[in-house]
Amino acid sequence: MKILTAENIGFCFGVRKALETIHSLLRTGRKTYMFGQLVHNPGVIESLRTLGAEIVESLDRIPRDSKESFLVIRAHGIDPQKKEKLKRHFFEVVDTTCPIVGKLFSTVQRAKREGYRIVVFGKVDHPEMEALKGYVEDAVVSESPVKPDRKTAFASQTTMSISEYSTFLQQILQKYFEHVKEMKIFNTICEATAKREREVERLAKENNLVIVVGGKNSSNTAKLARIASRFTRSVQIESERELKKDFVNYDKIAVVAGTSTPKSDVEKVSNKLQILCQEGR
Ligand code: SF4
Repeated sequence: MKILTAENIGFCFGVRKALETIHSLLRTGRKTYMFGQLVHNPGVIESLRTLGAEIVESLDRIPRDSKESFLVIRAHGIDPQKKEKLKRHFFEVVDTTCPIVGKLFSTVQRAKREGYRIVVFGKVDHPEMEALKGYVEDAVVSESPVKPDRKTAFASQTTMSISEYSTFLQQILQKYFEHVKEMKIFNTICEATAKREREVERLAKENNLVIVVGGKNSSNTAKLARIASRFTRSVQIESERELKKDFVNYDKIAVVAGTSTPKSDVEKVSNKLQILCQEGR
């Protein structure tokens, strides 16, 4: 059996920055909260909890000690009005919104000011899209084609698939082109995730099994598993404990991971696969 680990693994810079920030706040000894899960990875959240960090799920659940505590805003960003409200409750709100996500927000805001209707290819309930609605309240967020206005600007959630965004746009053009007078298309997909998408597609074509390591609630991890499944068998696991013995029946296996998966998790999966392979001989 040949096991190949993807080149693009480990945290992206946005996630790394958010984690470095929360670790440095925790080191101050002051109570530190995160607004929602800082990273869509259960192992990482668990280790932050062990260090004392806790999650604030919503504005209705402000902890009693908020006035003495830090609150960290995750890389996905936040509705600015919500952030202002949170600032009134906490000692300090530390915003780790990824600059690439911030750029998406300013892009759609500018297009809105220029009179475009905003259509965003994304998942309605994803935190990044919930935050975006705080910048452009009437933005339409959808994963399936929608009828544009005569003047429409398109953008994408930063972690969506490049190929799926392209299909989404083509379907809209095919169906509604005559209806449109003016259109702007922004490619707001993050290069860190696009790179992984290209790599997973190549690896899926060259291997019999692709193992995608990452949180089940991570949008970009699920996307990699979906892309791989178009070409070969793919499974998504959160840790090496989910590896099955029959995986050794595949002669070429690729191990890939989402941007919120620690490199060490990927290495553990690859190592355990090697062990299973040796045991199976
Ligand atoms: S995936 Fe891209 S946009 Fe999202 S946090 Fe990482 S670097 Fe930022």
